[in-house]
Amino acid sequence: MNNVTEIFGSKVFNLPTMKERLPKEIYKSLVKTINEGTKLDINVANAVAHAMKEWALENGCTHYTHWFQPMTGLTAEKHDSFIQPTDNRTVIMEFSGKELVMGEPDASSFPSGGLRATFEARGYTAWDPSSFAFIKDHSLYIPTSFVSYTGEVLDKKTPLLRSEAAIDKAAKRILALFGKTPKRVVSYVGPEQEYFLVDKKLRNQRKDLLLTGRTLFGAKPAKGQEMDDHYFGQIKERVASFMKEVDEELWKLGVLAKTKHNEVAPAQHEIAPIFSTTNISNDHNQLTMEVLKTVADHHGLYCLLHEKPYDGINGSGKHNNWSIGTSDGELLLKPGKKPEENVQFLLFLAAVIKAVDDYSDILRASVATAGNDHRLGANEAPPAIISMYLGDQLAAIVDQLKAGKGVKHEEGEIIETGVELLPDLEKDTTDRNRTSPFAFTGNRFEFRAPGSRQSIAGINIVLNTIVAETLTEFADILDGSGNTHKAALDLAIKTFREHDRIIFNGNGYSDEWVIEAEKRGLPNLKTTPDALPHFVAQKSIDLFTKQEVFTELEVKTRGEIMMEDYNNTVHFEMLAMLEMAKQEILPACLKYTKFVTDDLASKKALGIDAPKELEKAKTLTALTEELMTKIDILDEATAVPELDAYGVGMYYKNTVLPAMETLRETADTLETIVAKEYWPFPTYTDLLYLV
Ligand code: ADP
Ligand code: MG
Repeated sequence: MNNVTEIFGSKVFNLPTMKERLPKEIYKSLVKTINEGTKLDINVANAVAHAMKEWALENGCTHYTHWFQPMTGLTAEKHDSFIQPTDNRTVIMEFSGKELVMGEPDASSFPSGGLRATFEARGYTAWDPSSFAFIKDHSLYIPTSFVSYTGEVLDKKTPLLRSEAAIDKAAKRILALFGKTPKRVVSYVGPEQEYFLVDKKLRNQRKDLLLTGRTLFGAKPAKGQEMDDHYFGQIKERVASFMKEVDEELWKLGVLAKTKHNEVAPAQHEIAPIFSTTNISNDHNQLTMEVLKTVADHHGLYCLLHEKPYDGINGSGKHNNWSIGTSDGELLLKPGKKPEENVQFLLFLAAVIKAVDDYSDILRASVATAGNDHRLGANEAPPAIISMYLGDQLAAIVDQLKAGKGVKHEEGEIIETGVELLPDLEKDTTDRNRTSPFAFTGNRFEFRAPGSRQSIAGINIVLNTIVAETLTEFADILDGSGNTHKAALDLAIKTFREHDRIIFNGNGYSDEWVIEAEKRGLPNLKTTPDALPHFVAQKSIDLFTKQEVFTELEVKTRGEIMMEDYNNTVHFEMLAMLEMAKQEILPACLKYTKFVTDDLASKKALGIDAPKELEKAKTLTALTEELMTKIDILDEATAVPELDAYGVGMYYKNTVLPAMETLRETADTLETIVAKEYWPFPTYTDLLYLV
């Protein structure tokens, strides 16, 4: 590859390709649909389908697929070839507008949280023209929404699009008060994706990595991440050539891959794109995760996207950089310089602050997964307590406004807001608080709690919806107020005062913060079973139904699906752990103990005294007995009580996970005293350093 500009988007049916291949009128009508969400007429769809097919065939495609995002958090695809039989028993390649616009995959085997009984198997996919079709492995991929026969959404894209509509509607009402009428308001996301690489052969020797994506056993390596020598360190050749191929593949698919570097932990890395609109960013993040996996395979590597592959070593997150802006290119969370615009900024800032404070429990629930529970609050990732960090300068301005300084409220007078003092914060990236789960970073907020493996759809559905809700409340208050600027500023200041508690600029890892947060009344939802009930509570149902993002049924089924995902994950981990303990670790310990005791016996026969070795044999025997006892305890825990999903979740949290942890402790101690040649699978040192 020599020319990035040439390969960029070469596998995408993007605007230049459309323009080149579509009749002028058709192209115009399609662009209108893409930009404004207008309905497509079937004649246009037929013309687009034809052009798409021709382009796909020229690029070696034989099939097309409606690409959708079911509740698994992964993507799904079913491929149909373009062939159409003719009268003389040959085939031609056909693709109609109808086939482009709608598909009917069997929906029975996707999680629906009881939304749809399996006999009602019908699900529909509907083309999302705003996300471009692309080519992968000789198939034409068409991004689609996925809904049930009765209209309930079964996927992650549809509600994301609905939440975009909610932001659009609410933000426009606010902007109208400032005399602005942009065509559209959108949200933007730039997700920073962390991941680990591991040698594929070594990974395949570990059942836990194979089945669950994380290590369930493993003593700490002699060298961890204490030296801080990996972060931004020189990239190893094998990894660099992997990264190069990842970039190239992503560029071909139109993904704006931008930044790559080594992360804090050994064998941990990050890739970040340039931000785009949330719907596109979500599709592209799914593609990025897929490409990371496939390309790793080409290099004899395996890409671990799990939030916590290794105990005692940093886990992987996905920093969700989020902002809102208008179709005219105005970023609404950019402080700017002009005071009159700053009042508008302060109002949007206040809306985000209020949204995060009012709905911090739902935000927490949006990142609740079994994997992420190992990460949040574990002194490396942000704590499970949601708080916000504004940065020194902005916090000072907010404080000043709260104290009533620099604000004159005399009727008719131009308001002295004091906000002329607002510096242009855009370039300011110096003061960072890595412990904050929700930090202002110049013109956006960075939500750092999401897990690396998560689809970013769920998080941004929540973010868009809660901010849309506070903007709606603000618009209701401000509608009809004569002096918009004064009323808006007053409302912003009132909001800053009322939601003071969510702002925290200190160390989020400290024990004092946990106590302080409790005093402030901020929820500390440590685990998924603690958090998810908040997602299905009445407050959440009211929010999502009012903003028309989910129906009540959709909220409940989504909560159930997330809970079941947690339950299934812990269940498989428990079974994988038992298998490894019984079939691999225990036999290895017995074998090694036998080696030591045989050796002792032969020494004794020769009259050689070996007191240390005898000690070792005793320790090995005692620990192996302990291992067997703990295996029995975990075995008993496999009898899961018959409760609803939330009850079962609590059981996994309170009974199963502690039993797993204590079994691991004994096994890891044994690993440190059993000879390496007896240990049945690669150790942490092998996995982390042989990349
Ligand atoms: P960091 O220094 O936080 O690690 P990175 O450059 O790795 O920064 O990632 C920052 C991400 O934020 C990038 O994806 C970038 O495109 C994105 N970003 C920048 N501005 C905005 C914005 N206004 N809205 C959303 N995302 C943004
Ligand atoms: Mg980064």
